Amino acid sequence: MTRDMGLGMKIAMISEHASPLAALGGVDAGGQNVHVAELSAALARRGHDVVVYTRRDDPDLPEEVETEQGYTVVHVPAGPARYLPKDLMLEYMGDFGSYLLDRWSEERPDVAHAHFWMSGLATQLAARPRSIAMIQTFHALGVVKRRYQGSADTSPPDRIRLERLIARGATRIAATCSDEVFELARMGVPRSRTSVVPCGVDVQKFTPADEPERPVSKDLHRLVSVGRLVPRKGFDIGIAALAKLPDTELVIAGGPPAGGLEDDAEARRLRMVAERFGVQDRVRMLGQVPHDEMPALLRSADAVLCTPWYEPFGIVPLEAMACGRPVIASAVGGMLDTVVDGVTGCLVPPRNPDRVADAVRGLFADSSRRIGFGIAGYDRAKSRYSWDRVALDTVRVYKRALPAAMFEDPKRSHIGVNER
Ligand code: UDP
Repeated sequence: MTRDMGLGMKIAMISEHASPLAALGGVDAGGQNVHVAELSAALARRGHDVVVYTRRDDPDLPEEVETEQGYTVVHVPAGPARYLPKDLMLEYMGDFGSYLLDRWSEERPDVAHAHFWMSGLATQLAARPRSIAMIQTFHALGVVKRRYQGSADTSPPDRIRLERLIARGATRIAATCSDEVFELARMGVPRSRTSVVPCGVDVQKFTPADEPERPVSKDLHRLVSVGRLVPRKGFDIGIAALAKLPDTELVIAGGPPAGGLEDDAEARRLRMVAERFGVQDRVRMLGQVPHDEMPALLRSADAVLCTPWYEPFGIVPLEAMACGRPVIASAVGGMLDTVVDGVTGCLVPPRNPDRVADAVRGLFADSSRRIGFGIAGYDRAKSRYSWDRVALDTVRVYKRALPAAMFEDPKRSHIGVNER
């Protein structure tokens, strides 16, 4: 691992609802948690000093946790110390920002990197008075959510307006994919202040199976879909496609732990969809699968289905690719960058079960194509999307945001100007 020798940037990561220490798969715990955890770990490996600030959502949490991965997590008191849906957190961002302002009077970070729009609010409250460089990663945009979810969107009504202000106030925006750059441009954010830094995948953990690639089983083909159990993830599209895919099962990971699926509204809805299409005996819902068990689950798939209506980035397709699995994905958002149609998988129009079924059938009928997609996906994930590579790209963005004065500081003269 290359270290950014001597640089030792002090980096504050602000992730109000998504703690890097949380279990994944719940309604509000998914890609952002993984992103913050893995990016912080990779930056710490490069020799940076990383502190993650996240809202305290349990009274028993210690104020600070030193992680094995070398970064610190601070549980910020802002609002009640219990789980709150993220759409109810806005009113506590003032307290969150005040905490950061106080804390940064003694521990001034060189750069503050906010994840999600509400973190951006708290960060700007604290960073602007101290002239700290602010990087914003939105992870999801209110305008996109409103477009697809309409009246089902429970975001605070001011979200879209505030996101524009946050984008304007940030020193730089780190968009996770090219599609987001277009969305930001439509919101009036100049392209010159936006960089694309994708999410990554742990290529040590998500690896292909040891045994040689097997042909698709003649008895029962397996599709796997993974994600938070929310309607926009489009698990129902995969279920509907099963009606045209005999001898195929769909295994769905995500949601509450398995015992709680009965009480989960989306799980119940998906069961009803499966019954409507007469495929209930071929749909298996696992509930929340521990992240450590995810590589084995993905490797067990003949193909991985990612069929959301829209997708700000989508780490699951990358995890599948890193495991050498072909991906069938909706042609939306981050997957337009990560999944190369006809090379690492198939891109299909969103919300179109027939096209999903066609793509799956084509893939299962041609073993060499299926295996070739898996190999190409593995190569692409490993060479382009390792967290070490993503951390390097992130550091480049930080350096572009730092004031020139920092480079003139004799104590910090080792920060190569060329690297900016
Ligand atoms: N995940 C998990 N267990 C689950 C469901 C999801 O570990 O039961 C992980 C999954 O492996 C991935 C993340 O949660 O790392 C989901 O990220 P993605 O970007 O695909 O979706 P998001 O949650 O950001 O919408």
